[in-house]
Amino acid sequence: MKGNLIDILKNVPGEVTLIAVSKTRTPGEILEVYNQGIREFGENKVQELLNKQKVLPSDIKWHLIGHLQTNKIKSIIPFTYLIQSVDSLKLLIEIDKQAKRINRIVNCLLQIYIAEEESKYGLDFNEAEQIITNYQKGQFTNVNILGFMGMATFTNNINQIKSEFRNLKSYFDLIKSLHFSDNPEFSILSMGMSGDYLQAIEEGSNMIRIGTAIFGERDYKKM
Ligand SMILES: *Cc1c(COP(=O)(O)O)cnc(C)c1O
Repeated sequence: MKGNLIDILKNVPGEVTLIAVSKTRTPGEILEVYNQGIREFGENKVQELLNKQKVLPSDIKWHLIGHLQTNKIKSIIPFTYLIQSVDSLKLLIEIDKQAKRINRIVNCLLQIYIAEEESKYGLDFNEAEQIITNYQKGQFTNVNILGFMGMATFTNNINQIKSEFRNLKSYFDLIKSLHFSDNPEFSILSMGMSGDYLQAIEEGSNMIRIGTAIFGERDYKKM
């Protein structure tokens, strides 16, 4: 087994799901990690996901973790295991519509904005609660909202990162108690990447998305 993967798994409790983020990696590189026993992979671009899904083993659970355009949803709906990056009501409506067409229920996380940076996508707490209220009223028939995803600010300030994760965990707990007390399916809190997954786990994450620490530095020029 690749040394870096062993090191990561040593630090990750059993109840935390590891998603190997394979954006920019070749199918060969992904297969190497697959052969170490990893079955859940995350991609952030639709076309890249489609290309890889076609040639890689069918028991891979594919996660979409990047901003989605509504016109690209249709192609990934038949097989995607979890769409982690639902960042607008409009997007969720379209996912629901496309899922209904093929009679599939699609698992989703709402992406919540917790960072200080302007560049990151995501819903604020009010927008998320609005969507969840509509969801509970039955507006969506073909999506399952299973939890939240969030990204901390890209900074060396560990206290800030921890406080952003803590903030999202409190919000997750609040929403769970207000809206999902009788629905154990709402259970996923996806936070933590290569640089901050230990902090994320300390603050209550149960799904981490790790790219660089498994595969090494990304080379975007290769793509
Ligand atoms: C790229 C990416 C990751 C993984 O980042 P690393 O720092 O390489 O671990 C995790 N989450 C999202 C949403 C990403 O786009």
